[in-house]
Amino acid sequence: MADFSLPETFSPLTSEQIIAKEKSMMDARRFEHCIGVSRTAVKLAKLNHYDVNKAALTGFIHDYAKQIPVPIYQQTIREQGFDPDLLNYNRAIWHGIVGSWFIKHDLKITDPEIITAVKRHTTGDVTMTTLDKIVFVADFIEPGRDFPGVEEARKVAYADLDAGVGYELAHTLAFLIAQRAKIYPKTLLAYNQWAVKN
Ligand code: GDP
Ligand code: FE
Ligand code: FE
Repeated sequence: MADFSLPETFSPLTSEQIIAKEKSMMDARRFEHCIGVSRTAVKLAKLNHYDVNKAALTGFIHDYAKQIPVPIYQQTIREQGFDPDLLNYNRAIWHGIVGSWFIKHDLKITDPEIITAVKRHTTGDVTMTTLDKIVFVADFIEPGRDFPGVEEARKVAYADLDAGVGYELAHTLAFLIAQRAKIYPKTLLAYNQWAVKN
């Protein structure tokens, strides 16, 4: 963490203010994950000729709203114009889609590409920009991740970003189905778009 810094762009807040605000929203472990995602997003941005500053910031803030309490989420979904059907799915999927509201409101970030990448980072989507893919994949393969298949995911993603998206969706779907978890329709649509081999 000591040498972690962010570009002074995309928000009227200073980078120190963004880092402090993010830290106040989560436990130390989640904060380290966000730094790991930021650094991994920079690596993927370089490999895919994308703006490293934008990747660094979006990776860092992607889970900004992850630990907001359920009642606040429910209220935000109801009051800020989100699809009420979100309430029928696990809270795990809220922090990207609904988290985008907190990022605009608290961190004053309005760049549409950044907002969309945060929205899509948990479920993926049929259409994904380069930044969407970078954040989605960096979230899965950052150095703190440790699950069976993560080494293969890293190999695939560093060789080919789209293949990394497909690998992640196949792995996540298999994991959720093994638990008989309820699948958000966008996750399924994203799987069909990026993971199917023919
Ligand atoms: P994290 O925020 O860094 O932990 O990572 P993610 O934002 O990618 O995902 C959070 C959790 O949401 C993961 O455990 C995924 O398996 C889960 N998830 C992704 N899509 C769905 C879905 O459609 N339904 C459910 N129930 N969970 C999902
Ligand atoms: Fe997340
Ligand atoms: Fe994450």
